[in-house]
Amino acid sequence: MTSTPLVVLENVNKHFGDLHVLRDINLTVNSGEVVVVIGPSGSGKSTLCRTINRLETIDSGEIRLDDQPLPAEGRALARLRSDVGMVFQSFNLFAHKTVLQNVTLGPMKVLRKPRGEAEAHAMELLDRVRIGNQAQKYPAQLSGGQQQRVAIARALAMSPKVILFDEPTSALDPEMVQEVLDVMTDLAKDGMTMVVVTHEMGFARRAANRVVFMADGEIVEENTPDEFFTNPRSERAQDFLSKIL
Ligand code: ADP
Ligand code: MG
Repeated sequence: MTSTPLVVLENVNKHFGDLHVLRDINLTVNSGEVVVVIGPSGSGKSTLCRTINRLETIDSGEIRLDDQPLPAEGRALARLRSDVGMVFQSFNLFAHKTVLQNVTLGPMKVLRKPRGEAEAHAMELLDRVRIGNQAQKYPAQLSGGQQQRVAIARALAMSPKVILFDEPTSALDPEMVQEVLDVMTDLAKDGMTMVVVTHEMGFARRAANRVVFMADGEIVEENTPDEFFTNPRSERAQDFLSKIL
């Protein structure tokens, strides 16, 4: 494991009106690292993710990717969005496009890849998420687990530096959760840098290099998964774990 900082947040604050949703957040995600973010609903986990690819602006502090402050606009912002992949709870696939088209669209439009090259890469990625045989189908013809694996392939197609997963299995039927977690575990093993918001504690234990526990907009605890699950330091983490484990 290298320890090159890839994503760095320093004293980040964010308000929605009177609500202070991110309070002095300091967090470093090193290249190749898997950081799992857990915490109660409303604690600011999604907002944290969304600030990293600038879907949300911040009020103070600084966020850097690869040592560069996040760009505010223009081509640099478009490049940031391809460098920072995002996989949401609700798949967000284009319903009127095939699986293959969903994966090739970004590379062709944003990265200006020729169709042939984009399709060849897309097919490799669809095989990697174990869904190559569904390339010509439309999202509605797939199960939720299959759709989420397409969304992961679509994120990978932009050759991102980091992928943010915001509760990627929360909308899935229980029998489909594991197939998505398996694909994410493969990515982690292959060295992909990942920030994963999840309630899947088994995944956190197995795949995380670090667990970040958030409550009320703060990072309350940062720990190794072993320590966090067997011996959490903070009372709020103890309380949270006693409710979900
Ligand atoms: P989590 O993902 O941990 O459940 P969120 O980051 O979604 O938490 O939300 C943190 C807090 O910010 C919540 O109280 C939520 O209601 C509020 N919030 C999130 N997005 C917005 C928004 N666009 N406008 C106003 N309040 C918001
Ligand atoms: Mg959320």
